[in-house]
Amino acid sequence: MARAADEIELRTDFSLLIDGELRTSEQHLDVVNPAYGAVFARCPAAGRAELDAAVTAARRAFKGWRKTSYAERAALVKKLSQALRDNQQELAELLTREQGKPLAQSVAEIDRGAAQSDGMVGIEIPVETLVENEKQHIELRYRPLGVVGIITPWNAPVNLALGPLVSALYTGNTVVLKPSPYTPLTTLKLGELMKQVFPAGVANVLAGGDELGRWMTEHPHIDKISFTGSVATGKKVLASAAATLKRVTLELGGNDPAIIMDDVDPKAIAKQVFFASFVNSGQVCMAIKRIYAHEKVYEALCTALVAEAEKAVVGDGLDPATELGPIQNKMQYEKLIGILEDTKRRGAKILTGGEVPKGRGYFLPPTLVTDVPEDSRLVREEQFGPIVPILKFTHVDDALERANDTRYGLSGSVWTSDVNRGAEIAAQLEVGTAWVNQHRATSAFVPFGGAKESGYGRQYSVLGLKGYMEPEVVSVAK
Ligand code: NAD
Repeated sequence: MARAADEIELRTDFSLLIDGELRTSEQHLDVVNPAYGAVFARCPAAGRAELDAAVTAARRAFKGWRKTSYAERAALVKKLSQALRDNQQELAELLTREQGKPLAQSVAEIDRGAAQSDGMVGIEIPVETLVENEKQHIELRYRPLGVVGIITPWNAPVNLALGPLVSALYTGNTVVLKPSPYTPLTTLKLGELMKQVFPAGVANVLAGGDELGRWMTEHPHIDKISFTGSVATGKKVLASAAATLKRVTLELGGNDPAIIMDDVDPKAIAKQVFFASFVNSGQVCMAIKRIYAHEKVYEALCTALVAEAEKAVVGDGLDPATELGPIQNKMQYEKLIGILEDTKRRGAKILTGGEVPKGRGYFLPPTLVTDVPEDSRLVREEQFGPIVPILKFTHVDDALERANDTRYGLSGSVWTSDVNRGAEIAAQLEVGTAWVNQHRATSAFVPFGGAKESGYGRQYSVLGLKGYMEPEVVSVAK
């Protein structure tokens, strides 16, 4: 495994952003570099006082911000995406240190976040005329909600902050943003950039633990929560937000199936299927989590995927040779080791990988598994890591039934040389997004979100933006 030099000094150059000021606090968070399993940075952590100060600032700033035009707000968002690009390398290195992903993928995450931000602020939300005649004029307008609390997970902290952040700001809301305690640092640096761009109080960034997230969901002066994270926490967020009837968008976990039909060339698709399963070491909400392969192509697909896995270089994300970084945190690492042990106990066949390496850091090799019972943890749960089952099917109806036999419903894909048939099969997947001959393709103009327990509401596109707004009918009798 490739390893770069040890981390030496503790980095502490981080601040909260509250009311346009960079602030410290009494509590702090220690942040671990998962490639070493060792603390490399410390940042301030917000308590209730900091949350109240941020919410008060955001409420005050809302009065002016809501009156600005879409064009003015779009111009400031574009300034932010430019600032992200100007600071991309430094931000990407920090992101890799705290999150673990290969540097090229950190660079890509920032690129993608900036591009999607620019895309979103090109979307128009016009006033809709519903009735126009001699007697009446009825129109449907959309106005901002107020203060939006944004809570993000640890797997793609920049991109998953920018989606809701830009949606909220562009539609005229102000924001309090809280990253995961495992990966707060790049988000705090995003706060420093936002300080240069937005009026004081419009965007506030608070690092903090899980309890800070809970306080946000309970806060009487936050109007909406945009939450990205696990299903279990998503349910708590929804329950807690009910007390104040906050609006809620939930982007939750998935157990995303890929159905590989009998007419594909397994060698030709292996690279793409492998990447969609193992990118960020499988720690992607919409990564392929279960591969259903037709019996005609099953053996050849297994061989081609194993070849991809055995080529992949696992190591410290700062090493340019690395293609797969570590698991982001110890808790997730131990969960994955538990799933691996359960998979072996259930008599499954490990085609490649499957051994936990000795030494520092939370590393696991890409692991492909066959002959695994459908009711095993690996098939039923969201593994969120580099262990993927390949399951055989004979009839597509059976594959669809098994693919849909889950409470999850984020995304899925169908792989076939008959694209029309592929689209018909894809439409039968019970998911928010069903792809054909691709997986993990998203855009600022296309809604993304989960069916069933994978989510509530949508992000991106005009549909997503309207989730940050209150529809209001103005009905005029002439
Ligand atoms: P998590 O649910 O443990 O934590 C997410 C965030 O919620 C963190 O900031 C955490 O501090 C906060 N939090 C914890 N308890 C809270 C509470 N009671 N109230 C409010 N906030 C609370 O999730 P995670 O482990 O950080 O992230 C991994 C999960 O996120 C996976 O399930 C993954 O699929 C999902 N995810 C979904 C999407 C999507 O777009 N659908 C994208 C990325 C990740």
